[in-house]
Amino acid sequence: MLPYKTIQEAETAIGRPLTAAETLWFNYSATKSDYFLYCHNILFLFLVFSLAPLFYHLLELVYSKIHRFKIQPKIKLSFSQSLNCYLAVMRMFFLVVGPLQLLSYPSIQLIGIRTNLPLPSMGEIVAQLVVYFVIEDYTNYWMHRFLHCKWGFEKIHRVHHEYTAPIGFAAPYAHWAEVLILGIPSFLGPAIAPGHMITFWLWIALRQIEAIETHSGYDFPWAPTKYIPFYGGAEYHDYHHYVGGQSQSNFASVFTYCDYIYGTDKGYRYQKKLLNQLKEGVKSSGLQNGGSYSISTVDLKSD
Ligand SMILES: [Zn+2]
Ligand SMILES: [Zn+2]
Repeated sequence: MLPYKTIQEAETAIGRPLTAAETLWFNYSATKSDYFLYCHNILFLFLVFSLAPLFYHLLELVYSKIHRFKIQPKIKLSFSQSLNCYLAVMRMFFLVVGPLQLLSYPSIQLIGIRTNLPLPSMGEIVAQLVVYFVIEDYTNYWMHRFLHCKWGFEKIHRVHHEYTAPIGFAAPYAHWAEVLILGIPSFLGPAIAPGHMITFWLWIALRQIEAIETHSGYDFPWAPTKYIPFYGGAEYHDYHHYVGGQSQSNFASVFTYCDYIYGTDKGYRYQKKLLNQLKEGVKSSGLQNGGSYSISTVDLKSD
């Protein structure tokens, strides 16, 4: 809730006219409680969990050449398998994620997420989001690695690995304890560098969209994320799922440098090297090859 009754009052307080975005924010949030604004995350997460994975399924319907970009082309989940995954995620959403949002507001107050004016600049929002992603990536790396110890995997992380060829809907598919544990890395960035509620909304939504992209099962060469330095992406995390419970490779959630520094991408890099050598061999032997992904990781491994 804003401490100003009118726009004029807000302009006097911040010493300049409100921008168009600030006027919009004033009109929307002036009479709403901070708790209610925070709980918008429940709606945003519901929309992200539902619509972002759906995008890939709609693409499958309208884009006939999409199979070229499938990372594990031999695995195709049926409609009912995808629907069951979504329903399981929704059950977790209403039993764990939603209540967690409702109950965690005091922590948001404690760290100082603000709702007032002025709004942060675009530069401030981007800088904070970058910091949040870096902190999330580093913390998630170690927690995820811990979940791959015998106890962690058998008791908790095994559920997330039920999908050896993941789909977008499977990104938040996990044991309830994992949902809680891996909520910590997402919270840590805003706790260290707290910002505006709008930045917080954006962070929660973007983090989940990123997770859905890395679980989509598709590696599009034209994806805008290809331009982000050290970004892992779908192919990178797909390898982690393909190897499964024994996987000691590609633990990082966003970037690739943690796995490189701590030596947990050796299996993945060796696999890629083999794949490239095989592709070169196929090319030089003059065999016809339908596309860059017609020899996939899976083709190589299952042969
Ligand atoms: Zn894992
Ligand atoms: Zn995963």
